[in-house]
Amino acid sequence: MEGLRDLYQEVILDHNKKPRNYHKLEKANCVAEGRNPLCGDHYTIYLLVENDIVKEIAFEGSGCAISKASASMMSTELKGRTVEEVNRIFEIFHKVVTGEANVMTYLEDLGKLAAFAGVAEFPVRVKCATLAWHAMHSALQGGEKPVSTELE
Ligand code: ZN
Repeated sequence: MEGLRDLYQEVILDHNKKPRNYHKLEKANCVAEGRNPLCGDHYTIYLLVENDIVKEIAFEGSGCAISKASASMMSTELKGRTVEEVNRIFEIFHKVVTGEANVMTYLEDLGKLAAFAGVAEFPVRVKCATLAWHAMHSALQGGEKPVSTELE
């Protein structure tokens, strides 16, 4: 886990400083908002899905370093994948950051996303790390209602 911890720090710093795909996507056909009132994270996720493939993915909004890095890395890792793969990775990512599954089992599936396994050690941060993912998931399902980590 030592190596992963270093990677975690590196990924958070890098993606927070230079978030990837950080813009509005005008041609998106799946859009959803996500809010984490506990931390103040708030993002909109845009996807362009064609023939069941995520052609483009982008996001905008603001929040803490972890939420932004997670959204940024999600956007780079999911682009070009099928909706089915995206759903599978979402499930694995969710299990790993909540500590439900061991990251070592899924290193191959997660690739660089494995860096976020470190979040499992900080339960209060889990919602930050998964916010963009929940919004992305809701967008793919047609999400009209904003996703919130808390019942409002
Ligand atoms: Zn946060």
